Amino acid sequence: MIIDFRSDTVTRPTPAMLEAMMKAPVGDDVFGEDPTVNELEQMAATLFGKEAALFCPSGTMTNQIAIKCHTQPGDEVICDADAHVYQYEGGGIAANSGASVKLLPGDRGRINALQVEEAIQPDDVHRPRTSLVCVENTSNRGGGSCYDFEELKRIKQVCGNNGLPFHIDGARLFNALVAKNETPRQYGELFDSISICLSKSLGCPVGSLLLGDTAFIKKARRVRKLFGGGMRQTGYLAAAGIYALQHNMERLSEDHAHAKMIGEALQTQDYVETVMPVETNIVIFETKGISAKELVAKLKEHSILAYAIAPTKVRLVLHLDITRAMVEQVIHTVQQV
Ligand SMILES: *Cc1c(COP(=O)(O)O)cnc(C)c1O
Repeated sequence: MIIDFRSDTVTRPTPAMLEAMMKAPVGDDVFGEDPTVNELEQMAATLFGKEAALFCPSGTMTNQIAIKCHTQPGDEVICDADAHVYQYEGGGIAANSGASVKLLPGDRGRINALQVEEAIQPDDVHRPRTSLVCVENTSNRGGGSCYDFEELKRIKQVCGNNGLPFHIDGARLFNALVAKNETPRQYGELFDSISICLSKSLGCPVGSLLLGDTAFIKKARRVRKLFGGGMRQTGYLAAAGIYALQHNMERLSEDHAHAKMIGEALQTQDYVETVMPVETNIVIFETKGISAKELVAKLKEHSILAYAIAPTKVRLVLHLDITRAMVEQVIHTVQQV
């Protein structure tokens, strides 16, 4: 049996989730007539204390829509140099919004208020106009690191002082909420727009949500159509999202415990240089005396799939389809390769 740690996107819907999907009442969502999509959007908006939400096919789309809504061509977006919006969205900030980026060297994917303040462009005709600050929580390339909420508040303060909207790429925000014992409402109060993924650790086959106020989501709905993301009887997918929000959030602490166990086992192996601090469901480690690709190939011989994210960096991600027995098997295997 293959144990797949490449990403938390590899989960398959459980029979109970599939049943919820099969039973969903649907309609044409481009006409606003899909009751299940409307229910999911309402449910997510209420959860975060925002006015409205928009169901989209991917987290890339929710981020890119938000950036397009917040910027004009020629503007500059402030984010961490490792941010998904910059590293993994196909150059979308430039291609979709005609904006450029001000990349900050954060601490494991996390930027701070002082850096943001210093990065804001002065009002000068030579300069691009700073128009958005974007953070990512948890940080993917930061190894699932979580922000200190007080720092987010300080960044918000800087945004407020400079009239800048504040966006969060919360592809794995629920992991941060569980790990730090925070609430969705705290984030709803702080951010102008929030992107969350249902297709990662929450276990849905497809789907992300963008949250904001009514005017923002109205604009976002128009941009979603522009990007080709208007879907029709998508209530079948939204039903998976409703199921996931109701059933798959609390169990995330299991993934976090499993990630810590694997991180500890790796720490003592002679082919491991360092393991990044394990805060949530991601384990990233630096190899020593073997390349990441070679190690990934060795693990594969033992039916364990991992991902080489850099020449000497390997990533494992915990998720819904990984059981305790599988974690024990991996810990056994990493001591043998
Ligand atoms: C996965 C991910 C996204 C969105 O990815 P999609 O595959 O487009 O849904 C956005 N941000 C982060 C940090 C991610 O890890």
